[in-house]
Amino acid sequence: MITTRIAFLGLGNMGGPMAVNLAKAGHGVAAYDLSAEACAKAAQQPGVTIAPSAAAAVDGAQIVISMLPASRHVESLYLGDEGLLAKLPAGTLVIDCSTIAPASALKVAQAAAARGIAMLDAPVSGGTAGAAAGTLTFIVGGEADVLERARPVFQAMGKNIFHMGASSAGQVAKLCNNMALGVIMAVTGEALALGAAHGLDAKVLSQMMAVSTGRSWATEVCNPWPGVLENAPASRGYTGGFGNDLMLKDLGLAVEAAMGVGATIPLGELARNLYALNKQAGRGGLDFSSVVQLVSDKA
Ligand code: NAD
Repeated sequence: MITTRIAFLGLGNMGGPMAVNLAKAGHGVAAYDLSAEACAKAAQQPGVTIAPSAAAAVDGAQIVISMLPASRHVESLYLGDEGLLAKLPAGTLVIDCSTIAPASALKVAQAAAARGIAMLDAPVSGGTAGAAAGTLTFIVGGEADVLERARPVFQAMGKNIFHMGASSAGQVAKLCNNMALGVIMAVTGEALALGAAHGLDAKVLSQMMAVSTGRSWATEVCNPWPGVLENAPASRGYTGGFGNDLMLKDLGLAVEAAMGVGATIPLGELARNLYALNKQAGRGGLDFSSVVQLVSDKA
């Protein structure tokens, strides 16, 4: 197999295991994170070399991958006189896997193109479990031939690859998915709370819904009611999983993206407010399925 020299920037909950899977596939991985703790954790994994800075990590890299929290982190990493785009040679392939604003993704991709650097936005779905198992879905925006260059790298970290269109289309598609997820989780919690208030067993109600028309990932995999699914965050105090604050960020990006094109997303806007209320109630750091606690004190 052809191995590639890859710089991996951002070794958090998602980036850490993604970098490890690249190394397992035989690629040379030089990695960096602003957090010494994240670097120390990644350094314990075979095959991942920690660089002293982002600039040192990208030195000699054919491909640069970033997995950072939000738009401002991505823009400050790549743009400006001190940004990486000013340092990378033309011909480098840059892949940003963070979930960020489509407008921000476009701005960075245009700056890259002006320097002869190919860029893809490739946010992911599948969560930390998918990152560790190498089963992520990559939701890609950019040129088709650039995606073909990146395909072996995506295959080392994931299972499904979707080309959504030109630069920033990956981010738009990711926001569409997460907006649907946020609404479905909130209404699934409401349905279970309504049933429980009538004395129904939430487990049997969930089992019925899982084979009926109300079925979804929220009923079958990440059920928001404690005790229904042993491995769901709800059954371990809403810890682990996908944080309320990350869902809140994604719904905020969906609202911004809707305003940019005059799209109407009444349920998406309502859901953003529900997750904001859940944060105000002190559950920002918990799994987003804890949103059910807004409507029931039994959950
Ligand atoms: P995280 O906060 O665990 O990790 C982000 C890391 O980026 C941190 O370790 C931080 O120190 C580092 N960082 C920030 N700026 C940096 C810079 N300039 N250089 C190097 N490192 C820098 O976040 P995460 O859970 O890994 O999520 C990353 C992205 O993936 C987010 O955009 C998130 O929305 C998205 N995402 C997360 C999940 C999930 O389940 N956690 C699922 C799908 C998508």
